[in-house]
Amino acid sequence: MNKMNKKGLLLVISGPSGVGKGTVLAKYKENAPQMKMSVSATTRNPRPGEEHGREYYFVTKEQFEKAAVSGEMLEYASYSGNFYGTPKKAVYDKLNEGFDVVLEIEIQGAMQIKNKCPEAVLIFILPPSYEELENRLLKRQTETPEAVEKRMETAKKELLAARNYDYVIVNDDIEKAAEKLNYIIEGARCLSSQNQNILESIEKSIK
Ligand code: 5GP
Repeated sequence: MNKMNKKGLLLVISGPSGVGKGTVLAKYKENAPQMKMSVSATTRNPRPGEEHGREYYFVTKEQFEKAAVSGEMLEYASYSGNFYGTPKKAVYDKLNEGFDVVLEIEIQGAMQIKNKCPEAVLIFILPPSYEELENRLLKRQTETPEAVEKRMETAKKELLAARNYDYVIVNDDIEKAAEKLNYIIEGARCLSSQNQNILESIEKSIK
């Protein structure tokens, strides 16, 4: 634990493909050295430029199943035909050292975290509108029209789950969205549940 003897915050961030989660997080991270991104395990193949241990731990289906069965995953889910999961130990170690930990995960995993870790703060990044999300995906031009359609189908399901999150941030402007994320995190740091140590020490001193 750090010198304040205070645990970090567990943050879960979700949002549909093309909403700009990664960009908002990167912007927020510029001024937040105490934030650590959790590195997930996945059975999907690395994309060009991705590195084992940096973006993901790229593992086989057998390795993933073994880790999941032996309880090494804090949550896991199947998404687009592959498995994705959060290694438990790394997350708890970082939280205990006082770092905030961000899980950028899809909705099934986020709901598992909500059940298992009630102290986690769940944030959903929304597009300004459904049409705008479609435009952004089409503009990327990295996907075929069929792939865009498939992503939009998935996005529909994801957007309908946004109500289950604690906070929603509309990403109509990256700077503003990152600022809102900062306010949410600052607010969460002031939760009484996050400040048990100081509360206990004050309570002791007045007894
Ligand atoms: P991609 O293959 O594009 O990197 O990720 C696909 C989806 O899986 C994204 O929505 C991403 O947030 C999610 N994801 C990444 N890591 C995890 C994880 O550890 N657990 C879960 N449940 N979802 C994850």
